[in-house]
Amino acid sequence: MGQHLLTTVAEGRAFMQVIDGKAVDAISGQRIDVACPSDGKVFASIPASGVQDVDLAVQAARRAFEEGPWARMPAVERGRLLARLSRLIEKNADELAALESRDTGKPARQGRADVAGAARYYEFYGGACDKIHGDTIPFLDGYTALTLREPHGVVAGIIPWNYPLQILGRVAGAALAMGNTLVVKPAEDASLTAIRVAELALEAGFPAGAFNVVTGYGSDAGAALSAHPDVDYVTFTGSPATGTAIQQAAAVNNRGVTMELGGKSPQIVFADADLDKALPVLVNAIIQNGGQTCSAGSRVLIERPVYGKVSAALAERFAKLVAGPHDADLDLGALINPKQRARVAAMVAEAEEAGAKVLARGAIHKDAPQGGWYHVPTLFGAVDPASAIAREEVFGPVLALFAFDGEEEAVRLANGTEYGLVAGVWTADGGRQHRVAKHVRAGQVFVNGYGAGGGIELPFGGFKRSGHGREKGFEALYDMSATKTVVFNHG
Ligand code: NAP
Ligand code: MG
Repeated sequence: MGQHLLTTVAEGRAFMQVIDGKAVDAISGQRIDVACPSDGKVFASIPASGVQDVDLAVQAARRAFEEGPWARMPAVERGRLLARLSRLIEKNADELAALESRDTGKPARQGRADVAGAARYYEFYGGACDKIHGDTIPFLDGYTALTLREPHGVVAGIIPWNYPLQILGRVAGAALAMGNTLVVKPAEDASLTAIRVAELALEAGFPAGAFNVVTGYGSDAGAALSAHPDVDYVTFTGSPATGTAIQQAAAVNNRGVTMELGGKSPQIVFADADLDKALPVLVNAIIQNGGQTCSAGSRVLIERPVYGKVSAALAERFAKLVAGPHDADLDLGALINPKQRARVAAMVAEAEEAGAKVLARGAIHKDAPQGGWYHVPTLFGAVDPASAIAREEVFGPVLALFAFDGEEEAVRLANGTEYGLVAGVWTADGGRQHRVAKHVRAGQVFVNGYGAGGGIELPFGGFKRSGHGREKGFEALYDMSATKTVVFNHG
């Protein structure tokens, strides 16, 4: 195993949140320990904020929205600020990647990929600021009607721990591009890079109050933010249960929401698929980030004539997978926290008890620190579609295989969960590519490929229990703004 190159980043640092352009502690002075999943050891701390801190951040965002330079800034200037932030992220890439890996346990290369993705979000949305515009509408004689795209105002972003840098980028990039101001509450398990990006935003020249980060527990800071009456719009990525709680809180104020709530995404492998191309993608789609990816390809549906061949090839690959500390840069890292590991372990045990067959297990590196929160990659074969492991999001390195006969059954199985986020279709048949892409209920469908999380230009979001609203691409800019219709009666 390689040297532990990244293990000293932020050692002992007491991080502060960023409110109104200043580094501030929680009013209560209480702090939350920050531990590294690779060894379970505490290395830093963040403020444990509550209702009052959130209120200060929302007030600051409100002031920045209504007064001061942000309120009058032309779109092109907002774009330049976002572009400057993108370049600062690139300039600080080594530190940010090390921080992200240490905070979440993800392999070093994934940390670096996440930094590149984050920089790309601010670049993309920086470029989009002055290219999105309203319409003129043919109306009655003597009138001119037009639409303006207006920011909502203060946007609250509640961010999960799996891809903090990237998800912050997609939320902040689109929200700020449209002229909103922002209060972000990252997950208490992964707040460090959000704090650093908010610091870099100040360095880039964002006015005080435009980009605030409040840290703390979801039940305190998160709940206070989603219920705050002066928040105009809420965007959330995380679990369906928390999504419901956040929507209920926002509903009291009748505010709009975007919900990105995970999935149980299928990859459908037909007998005519190019298996050399498909196999590495099938494995990566579930192993990337230890399976803690909303768009993870956690089900593989295989046409019966090739089921034996494909399942054997996947088992061979799974058996070779190794989990270990982030700085060893192995196939996967530890899971985010002991609760998540226990949840994954319980779902695997329950599946085995219910009769699901384990086709292969990977390994945890023999030198991996004892205190780390590792779970072995696990492959289940010929899973009962009615079972929990077939239907529920595991959010761990666990893949379930299913056999199917023909296109119709493939689509029925693919649509047979409450989720609908992403799907993959592997076939050489052009007609079938189009038919299946049309009939699968998912926000994104990849044909002969799979883009777990990737593609900043591509609109992304769920059907069914995977949520509503769209992020990424230009579509996110519509979610992050509202249409104002203006009618002139000039006779
Ligand atoms: P979670 O509860 O959905 O957490 C996501 C975010 O919501 C975090 O910032 C969290 O803060 C915050 N939060 C929690 N309760 C809140 C509340 N009542 N009001 C406002 N904000 C609140 O997810 P989790 O408990 O960490 O993970 C549980 C499961 O969710 C996972 O096993 C996985 O299946 C799923 N998940 C999905 C995604 C995804 O990308 N779709 C991401 C993460 C988790 P704190 O973490 O600080 O409490
Ligand atoms: Mg952490």
